[in-house]
Amino acid sequence: METVAPLKEIIEVIKESGGDAFKFCYQCGLCDTVCPWNRVRTFSMRKIIREATFGLTDIESDEMWRCTTCGNCPRQCPRGVAIIEAGVSLRKIATEYGVFPTSVNPVRAISASLTGEGNPLNETRKARANWAEGLSVKAFTEGMEILYFPGCYLCYDPRLKKVARATADILNRAGIDFGILGSSENCCGESIRKTGDEELFKRLARENIKTFIDNGVKKILVSSPHCYHTFKNEYPEFMVNFEVVHIAEYLLELINKGRLELTKDYGKKVTYHDPCYLGRHNGKYDEPRKLLKKISGLELIEMADSMENSLCCGGGGGRIWMETPKGERFSDIRIEQAVGAGAGVLATSCPYCITHFEESRLTLKDHDALAIKDITEIVREVI
Ligand code: SF4
Ligand code: SF4
Repeated sequence: METVAPLKEIIEVIKESGGDAFKFCYQCGLCDTVCPWNRVRTFSMRKIIREATFGLTDIESDEMWRCTTCGNCPRQCPRGVAIIEAGVSLRKIATEYGVFPTSVNPVRAISASLTGEGNPLNETRKARANWAEGLSVKAFTEGMEILYFPGCYLCYDPRLKKVARATADILNRAGIDFGILGSSENCCGESIRKTGDEELFKRLARENIKTFIDNGVKKILVSSPHCYHTFKNEYPEFMVNFEVVHIAEYLLELINKGRLELTKDYGKKVTYHDPCYLGRHNGKYDEPRKLLKKISGLELIEMADSMENSLCCGGGGGRIWMETPKGERFSDIRIEQAVGAGAGVLATSCPYCITHFEESRLTLKDHDALAIKDITEIVREVI
């Protein structure tokens, strides 16, 4: 194994990057028993930790890029090792040296797109609000009830634009005084941070924070659990605190307050997939389920690995931008679990999960046996 960065440097960078908790690891291997990678191939976070402790990390290998930051292993670790932070600290070293294995190479173009246009999809900044064409969506101005922040995938991705449009439609029907920032909106930066590019994360975050403050934003509605996580838990590192709500909890609140009425039946069997960054990272398991249970005729069923045991879709930690070969995609297993539970609809509330599930759906013999829906799209159908 070639050690690219010198021993002292690796250990020092790990410490500086919040990965110092490596030293508490006593190599029990519990993390490996719950890691989704071990359902599709062998992978050992325990080994990565061991090697890093001795400064023996091979920063050219694929291994340290596998972690999807799903959050399953830290909650099992008997020594409280900050496993995700420690893993990200190794990526910071690789990013600093500009050393990426082939599977991670796409991240270079992603970084360039984020730097130049504020999104990872190689789209232009000025097209950011095109998803709202033909809808009554205003630019945010101070004093409005809420800012709607759709996030990059909902602004640009053809499949996910439908979710942004459904959201705006519901908000309009409920009479919510909301606005968007359009081309002033930047990527939230959550996922690029998990690839170790702290500098780019900070630049995106600072620009967003300045825009929020300049526009008098106080309350932010998000569709992506990744935006939710970083606005709520990471932006306070910049000494700011905005009120952040995820669409699942917001829609439930609107219904409970009588501001949104569900009028139609949804006669389908639905199973709900907990996105890692809404569930395990932020404890929001009940709100999406309560919302779905409000819908008349909808039968909510649980599949294997639900709630805190949710099987990661594979898209977190920047993995959404990396190549995962067929046979190693967690989302393929998840689709089978949904079908196995008897669901006709797999509902979720995260753009990365939807992207992966839509791809995995095509691996089914009968592609139409399962529909993939954001919970917003389901609500849109029944108002
Ligand atoms: S579960 Fe914790 S203590 Fe056990 S090997 Fe993993 S990081 Fe180390
Ligand atoms: S956070 Fe999830 S993907 Fe990463 S090592 Fe732990 S269990 Fe595996």
